[in-house]
Amino acid sequence: MKMELEQDESETTNMIPVCNCGLRAEMRTSWTKANPGRRVFGCPNFGKKTRKFRFFKWFDPEIDDRPRVVILGLLKSKGAVEKARKKERAIWVIFLAFLAYLAFFRV
Ligand SMILES: [Zn+2]
Repeated sequence: MKMELEQDESETTNMIPVCNCGLRAEMRTSWTKANPGRRVFGCPNFGKKTRKFRFFKWFDPEIDDRPRVVILGLLKSKGAVEKARKKERAIWVIFLAFLAYLAFFRV
C-alpha cells in the first residue's frame, strides 16, 4: 500500500514540467473571469520582466461556459458574504469599545 503511494508520488513529480530557466514549474490556480479555478503550470519566475522565463501550460482543460458562470456566481456571492461579515465584525468592535468606555468611566 505504501509502495503504491510512493510510486504515485513519483509519477506526479515526473509530470511536473521544467522551464527553460531550469526551475520546476509550479502549479497555480487561475482566478481570472476567463478561467476561474483552472489549474496551470507556470515557471516560478513567470510574470517577471525577463522574457526567457515564460513557461506557461494549462493543466486543466478549458472550462465550459455553464460551469464558468456558476463558479463566477459563487465567487461573487462569497465576496458579498465576506463583505457583510467584515461590516458586522466592525460594528461589534465599535459596540464593544463603547461598552468598555461605559465600564471604564462608569457613565
Ligand atoms: Zn523559468
